[in-house]
Amino acid sequence: MRLIVIGGGIAGLYSAYYTQKKTAAAGQTIHLTILESDSRWGGKIATDRVTFDDGQFIIEGGPDTFLATKPYAAALCKELGIGERLHGTNPHQKNTYVLHRSRLLPLPDGLAMMIPTNIRAILETRLVSWFGKARMGLDFLLPPRPLNPNHSGAGGDESLGAFVSRRLGRAAYENLIEPLMSGIYAGDGDQLSLASTFPYLRDLELKYGSLARGALEMRKKSPSTPGSRSAFLTPTTGLAEIVEKLVERLTSNGADLRLNTPVSQISNIDSSYFVELETGSTLEADSVILATPAYVSASLLGSLDPSLAADLQSIPYTSTATVTLAYRQSDLVRPLDGYGYVIPRREGRRALACTWTSTKFPHRAPDGYALIRVFVGRAGQENDIPWDEHGLFELAKEELLLTIGISAAPLLHRTFMWDKAMPQYNIGHPEILKRIDDALEKYPGLALAGNGYRGIGIPDCIHSGKLAVEKILSHVTARNEAVSSLAGEIASPHRPGVLPGKNGSQ
Ligand SMILES: Cc1cc2nc3c(=O)[nH]c(=O)nc-3n(C[C@H](O)[C@H](O)[C@H](O)COP(=O)(O)OP(=O)(O)OC[C@H]3O[C@@H](n4cnc5c(N)ncnc54)[C@H](O)[C@@H]3O)c2cc1C
Repeated sequence: MRLIVIGGGIAGLYSAYYTQKKTAAAGQTIHLTILESDSRWGGKIATDRVTFDDGQFIIEGGPDTFLATKPYAAALCKELGIGERLHGTNPHQKNTYVLHRSRLLPLPDGLAMMIPTNIRAILETRLVSWFGKARMGLDFLLPPRPLNPNHSGAGGDESLGAFVSRRLGRAAYENLIEPLMSGIYAGDGDQLSLASTFPYLRDLELKYGSLARGALEMRKKSPSTPGSRSAFLTPTTGLAEIVEKLVERLTSNGADLRLNTPVSQISNIDSSYFVELETGSTLEADSVILATPAYVSASLLGSLDPSLAADLQSIPYTSTATVTLAYRQSDLVRPLDGYGYVIPRREGRRALACTWTSTKFPHRAPDGYALIRVFVGRAGQENDIPWDEHGLFELAKEELLLTIGISAAPLLHRTFMWDKAMPQYNIGHPEILKRIDDALEKYPGLALAGNGYRGIGIPDCIHSGKLAVEKILSHVTARNEAVSSLAGEIASPHRPGVLPGKNGSQ
């Protein structure tokens, strides 16, 4: 089999790795090629390691950690031999703050799956007014909205903002849930599809009649024991360790890895696919996995299947950026006593969140130094952002001055701009996915992987790679079985029960 994987982000690299693993286990040979347009592997995973004053700053330009409760990323690290290098977040300073009327207020304790479960903490928080708190209490009384496909939105879906507002009230949505959700999707909660982003919230409503009751029940079923592992994990010197190990394995197992190789188009004739490169040359394959952003896959498939391409193109993406700045601890005006803060949309700031990296992961800055990362860009606000290195640096410094009072010049800074990086699973996303899946049935040798479809986090992207490979391998197995049964028929045409002449032309 000849397989080409397009895109060398985590989804593409994992697809290639998993293909090698499965085919080796089955004793099959494979000719595997991975094509990446950029000059480095990893896509959104980009770690910069900067030696400084006998120590090192570990600067993540994209993701800085992955969710451990979805097992795929941690399991992969174990397989790659870096399981022991995974660190959790700092258990000693776990505060997260929310910017509220320009001041930092702590997120109340007891949020389970984003839902408040600690009544005392809710009563004490100043993030929601007394009226807002009373409205949150109605969650225990309001009946669940019955299942009715015509109720709101296509297929019964509704926006995350509408759902949380009808259960907990608008104040809880805007001050608690929206900023947390924004940190994941950089999205607009009033557009995001509940079914595609947080389907378990609707499940809790239907099963327990109340979000808080449901979250409490779930918490009882899986209590976090003292000393239990952090919900978020990351390798010692950054997420690039995963990428480096994958590339090492792929190379040593004979894959053909090509950087600086943008693909421009895919076509097919019968069961063969032709992958055209921007250089003008063409590679032929039996199967292709597109692990590129959905809009890139759309342009690559535009001439093969315009209607599939139109659906892929209709998945919107938001641009984001991160600016990481390093300071002397002595330059700080307030202690960085937590993981950082999130900024609700209603605050009208251009930054989305700020991570206090050297507190969240103390080993990521040398002793005596602080590392801070400002996250910029959210759906609907892209025009407010200066998309150049200098403008983003100035924006980040302004944010730190306004909120935590840092006026000193940073010792170093790194800016990463991510053009159209975060897919937005808006209302209608499940229907788009259904049409894409239906269209792909016509192409058993073609599969999609990556963050554009069923999960944006690293574990989801890894899982998407696994599913893509399974589709391709089941097609190959079916084809091989058909070939061997045909070969069997040719070798022994007189099968029992099929008498020559009785069945027509035999
Ligand atoms: C700032 C930021 C912070 C994030 N934080 C977290 C986090 O903390 N935890 C978490 O789990 N997730 C996080 N995410 C999300 C997660 O990082 C991404 O969803 C994931 O890395 C995407 O992986 P991917 O392989 O699907 O796509 P990508 O990483 O985008 O890979 C696609 C690859 O395709 C290549 N490509 C594009 N066009 C072509 C072409 N024509 N030919 C060949 N190759 C092409 C690209 O160069 C790229 O390398 C974050 C994302 C960003 C941007």
